[in-house]
Amino acid sequence: SSVNAAEKTYQIGTDVTYPPFEFANSNNKYIGIDLELLNAIAKIENFKVNIKPVGFNAAVQAMQSGQLDGVIAGMAITPERQEKFDFSDPYYKTGFVMAVAKNSSVHRLTQLRGKRVALKTGTAAAAYAETLKSKYGFKTVIFDDSDNMYNDVITGNSVACFEDQPVMQYAIKTGLSLKIVTKPAQGGHYGFAVMKGKNQELLAKFNSGLKKLKANGEYTKIIHNYLGTAA
Ligand code: GLN
Repeated sequence: SSVNAAEKTYQIGTDVTYPPFEFANSNNKYIGIDLELLNAIAKIENFKVNIKPVGFNAAVQAMQSGQLDGVIAGMAITPERQEKFDFSDPYYKTGFVMAVAKNSSVHRLTQLRGKRVALKTGTAAAAYAETLKSKYGFKTVIFDDSDNMYNDVITGNSVACFEDQPVMQYAIKTGLSLKIVTKPAQGGHYGFAVMKGKNQELLAKFNSGLKKLKANGEYTKIIHNYLGTAA
């Protein structure tokens, strides 16, 4: 018997913890802007999703090896990534910021010389920091997830980390002991990703659903629910 295309379940990878885009709440349920957008789109476009919170880099790799149909993980649309992946229409604006410990006097790239900077593997912010590394003479240490990267700065092992502005801002607002010391650099947007040339029907449904959520106010409602203000 044939499976109705409308009932298809897609395997979608996401990060373990990247609030406000995806994170486990106190009941260990995964919530966040990405998951609410995707669930609302799936509902309106009549498909199902199975969410796998495996971590950012792991999700991207699992998609590349064919184990996942798509990734939604606060993933920036970059020219390098567009060689391998097809992205949806952009759904949120971002840019890279440098964050340091609350009591730190470091506030400029020139103060990083000879110091250690914490990065998260496979991220656009890490790629950005790598381009600054030789000019500003800092060393890097790489972590698999955001929490361990932040902790390395809080404990003083690293003097700074580079992360996306909306993510850093939300983490600080919800109690993280860091402060942002630079203006957002290299602005970009988040998109939902599939492998290049694959799962094109899923991508089309995502774009179609996103348009509907923007038109009916649900997109704004989801963003407000997490950030209190419009995007
Ligand atoms: N926004 C970053 C990127 O696109 C990191 C994503 C993440 O860590 N979930 O690379």
